[in-house]
Amino acid sequence: EELCRELPKIELHAHLNGSVRDSTLLELAKVLGEQGAIDFSEVEGLIKRRGRSLKECFRLFDIYHKITTDHATVTRITQEVVEDFAAENVVYLELRTTPKQNKAKEMTKRSYVEAVIDGLTAVDSVEVAFLPSTVNARNLTNFLPNEVTYNQTQRKKIFVRLLLSIDRRETTAAAMETVNLALEMKDKGVIGIDLSGNPEVGEWQTFLPALQYAKQKGLQVTLHCGEVRNNREIHSMLDFYPQRIGHACYLEEEHWEKLKVSKIPVEICLTSNLRTERITSFKEHHFADLYKAKHPVSLCTDDVGLFSTTLSNEYYLAASTFEFNKEQVYQLSRNVIEFVFADDEVKRTLAEIYDAAERRFI
Ligand code: 5GP
Repeated sequence: EELCRELPKIELHAHLNGSVRDSTLLELAKVLGEQGAIDFSEVEGLIKRRGRSLKECFRLFDIYHKITTDHATVTRITQEVVEDFAAENVVYLELRTTPKQNKAKEMTKRSYVEAVIDGLTAVDSVEVAFLPSTVNARNLTNFLPNEVTYNQTQRKKIFVRLLLSIDRRETTAAAMETVNLALEMKDKGVIGIDLSGNPEVGEWQTFLPALQYAKQKGLQVTLHCGEVRNNREIHSMLDFYPQRIGHACYLEEEHWEKLKVSKIPVEICLTSNLRTERITSFKEHHFADLYKAKHPVSLCTDDVGLFSTTLSNEYYLAASTFEFNKEQVYQLSRNVIEFVFADDEVKRTLAEIYDAAERRFI
């Protein structure tokens, strides 16, 4: 367990609002409760409850959004989420979030993303590099690893990149707005697009034009794929050939074949899949098959807050379930460098960070 915490790790699938600390949510909910905006005891009960279905999760997200969607809070939760990941030796984080409009708070999709970026800038307890490396190449030398980086007394260092999520409830025009925003904010650390939200809502055809446009314009795309059974959609998604997919729980044999030939990396969320009852035990998770087939995979948390997990815990779960030795765990984490959306310079720096840590694990 301790080793999984010490291991340098890369997080590619983390939703901002699902990663908020419970303590922060409760604190914010209490204030809203006192103002009469929400029923605090009901919200408290929901937040403190553990296992929940996927449906309940989406209901909960609507409540989370009521609690967190104003500029100052978005900035605060971003800052805390980055600090929490850095504290457990995540050295590269792709944080995804859905830009939200909220007239009552004078919030536009753009000002929402700006508030997120303010959160990255506000982090003080760890060093954050979130601009593309061509912009802050100078700072990269600070990132060069040394033994003490892994010593708790040193300030931790973390790369952060942003992915903007399209919610499946959105229209084509709204999805397009998010893609345009991502393009405009490319020099501020936004590097890709994610399609997420309730998988039982919305049609692939609605999002396709915006996703195609994103791809055409050089944004990287990752899709929540196969969270529910939907043969046609899974086919279409694989045909779209995104740079990565998340979950891949309900793929049929023909999909697996197609996926394996395509070599599209899969973001694996063990705890999330168990908690939302898409698998009944870790042992039977499709991670095992993909790993055996040497298919590119990366362990991810999905929502550390919602599912009470950490990336270190996900590595520990994989290691204990599948009886990996130290070297295998190290390699599993290191292999993820290849599928990050950041540029080659960042990848090279990450490789150096792993080189420096190698002695401890091999
Ligand atoms: P946000 O984008 O508001 O920062 O993070 C929460 C949002 O992420 C949710 O409203 C939902 O759209 C998306 N999300 C979080 N976890 C999951 C998941 O497991 N599956 C899907 N499809 N979407 C998710």
